[in-house]
Amino acid sequence: MTPSEAQQRIATLRSEVAYHDVRYYRQARPEVGDVEYDRLKRELADLEARFPDAARAAGQESPTKRIGDDRAEGFVTVRHRQPMQSLDNTYSEAELREFHARLVRLLGREDLSYVVEPKIDGLAVSLTYEKGRFVRAVTRGNGVEGDDVTANALTIRSLPRELKAAAQAPVPELIEIRGEIYMTLAEFQRINAARDEEGEERYANPRNLAAGTIKLLDSREVAGRRLELVLYGIGACEPAQAGGDTQSGYHARVRAWGLPTVERFWKARGIDEVWAAVGELDRIRQGFAYATDGAVVKLDSLALQREAGSTSKAPRWAMAYKFAAERAETKLLSISVQVGRTGVLTPVAELEPVLLAGSTVARATLHNRDEIARKDIRVGDYVFVEKAGEVIPAVVGVDTARRTPECVEFRFPTKCPSCGSKVVQAEGEVALRCPNYDCPVQVRRRVRHFASKACVDIDGLGEAMVDILVEKGWVRGVSDIYRLRRDDLLSLGKSVEKSTDNLLAAIEASKGAELWRFIHGLGIPHVGAAAAKDLAARFLGLEALSESKLEDYIGPGKESLIAGIGRTMAEAIVDHFNQPINRTLVRDLARAGISPRAPATKARSPGPFTGKTFVLTGTLPSMTREDATARIEAAGGKVASAVSKKTTYVLAGSDAGSKLEKARALGVAVIGEDDLVAMLKGA
Ligand code: NAD
Repeated sequence: MTPSEAQQRIATLRSEVAYHDVRYYRQARPEVGDVEYDRLKRELADLEARFPDAARAAGQESPTKRIGDDRAEGFVTVRHRQPMQSLDNTYSEAELREFHARLVRLLGREDLSYVVEPKIDGLAVSLTYEKGRFVRAVTRGNGVEGDDVTANALTIRSLPRELKAAAQAPVPELIEIRGEIYMTLAEFQRINAARDEEGEERYANPRNLAAGTIKLLDSREVAGRRLELVLYGIGACEPAQAGGDTQSGYHARVRAWGLPTVERFWKARGIDEVWAAVGELDRIRQGFAYATDGAVVKLDSLALQREAGSTSKAPRWAMAYKFAAERAETKLLSISVQVGRTGVLTPVAELEPVLLAGSTVARATLHNRDEIARKDIRVGDYVFVEKAGEVIPAVVGVDTARRTPECVEFRFPTKCPSCGSKVVQAEGEVALRCPNYDCPVQVRRRVRHFASKACVDIDGLGEAMVDILVEKGWVRGVSDIYRLRRDDLLSLGKSVEKSTDNLLAAIEASKGAELWRFIHGLGIPHVGAAAAKDLAARFLGLEALSESKLEDYIGPGKESLIAGIGRTMAEAIVDHFNQPINRTLVRDLARAGISPRAPATKARSPGPFTGKTFVLTGTLPSMTREDATARIEAAGGKVASAVSKKTTYVLAGSDAGSKLEKARALGVAVIGEDDLVAMLKGA
């Protein structure tokens, strides 16, 4: 490879890796598997080492020099007292042994002891406890500062609000405890089963779902999905000795404080014992509650850890050994293209069935058109299929040695396989879509979603029935459900009288379903059941919701005016109803005679704050605005957006602006988060 070729390849790899970083860390929707991502990154790092001049000349900062950044819009960022780093990783035994040899050279001693822990495949979090009280949960972010996800973390049942004091482990004044948030496979499967019922796309794997969940703006939605926690490290600790002096002692200490720790870890003297422990972990890890993608090997002595130090990205005293993903080779028989509820076209590999990680695989995702081209996958090829953390198997590459002239390039359809419309690609999106709102597959999926249990719940309108109704042309959209004719349904066969009458009765009954069910049923992007309830409480009708403007959701200070609805969701709602077809549906439903049950105007439950009005300003130390609002309302209080003489208290955090000045000018009492908590406790 010439230096100029290297430069070009480095530039390409840098943008590819940066693209996958955004998909993985910020959007929690990776397009490629971890093994494949690691391969790209390794190639980049190797080239950068071999061609340092070309690496400099390639411009743009290299993703090999920084850690993945998960910070997202809508969250307050908080600086870690001690940075959260990544880990160097390898798939090779020789490199793991080299890691030990390097430490022997660096520390000038042979007798090194390690701890081998499972590498949990979740997302990193830092929990701060002050005087034993939980105050904050922050994501890794860019390592220096992360997103404050306290309100969401509070939904995790295994997160103790107070540390237990133990004789051998006094509770420190302040401690950052590091660990991983994850979702069990059972919970992941429960959520996907519900998605199936709603006709919605399945989530790809528990790690991404956990990462996406902790970044939801609505904590109630988070509470509906069960997240778990496991801790394995310490950041800042005051006084320092309260953190102990070994990593093995750490686990006992953290467990004594009542925090969940790893199910199993091994103490190992020298690298041979480390390697044996890694092997044992690999044999038993399937029985753990969390998915593991490797082993983390750490020097046991914290004093030696400090001596070894860190690079800008990762500690020198630890190394992740990653287990190779399970992989199989099989023939790609054909490629089919599926159409989703919103029209997205997904290519799916139809494979010669092959055994992979304990199950037979006959289909695997090919992600999108660009991925097929990038990997040069042709129909008839022998392909590699992998199932790493991924539950849905993916095609990761081609065995080019087995390629024959019969293998043909796949021509991605330019027309929708369902309705024949010309497919389109929105700017900045990789996905191709069928733009036809009346496309039968999209109609079927929309109607199924609307009629599902999670929405207006029409018994008897399952998948098979919806397919028939759409095929017959009796249902072209959601509102047609309410225009079905008994005679037409009776023509479907003999002895269908009873089921027809049951179906029509169920449809009639659904007209009076609660408003939030209709809102959820409209399929507005990002709007799940919890958000639908908030919208129902605020707008009291579909018509009013369809006419809502961004100003109804976001105040002049960019604050959210409806608890639980952040900016992304607000924009999605307004965009949705900006499309005439979606407003027409609302009118059609009204004409069809639906009369959603609006939520009873909340008779505020009387409480200690009854009759008191609060105004929130600035950033509170631990609570989010939504959290504080929910607590005030639960105690009978009201939260208003502007300060007036009628305001009882202004609840102010850091960076409070003009509202605080106005409160002072009007002589309104100003309180802090601690005061609020004390008032609630006193209640
Ligand atoms: P990493 O996941 O390889 O290792 C560091 C992380 O491991 C830590 O931040 C911590 O969260 C976690 N960890 C789990 N168990 C641990 C334990 N016992 N002790 C200490 N830490 C533990 O590094 P990373 O920087 O978070 O991410 C890089 C990895 O993420 C890549 O190797 C790749 O597999 C994956 N990734 C995939 C894509 C993709 O598109 N598929 C994109 C970006 C990153």
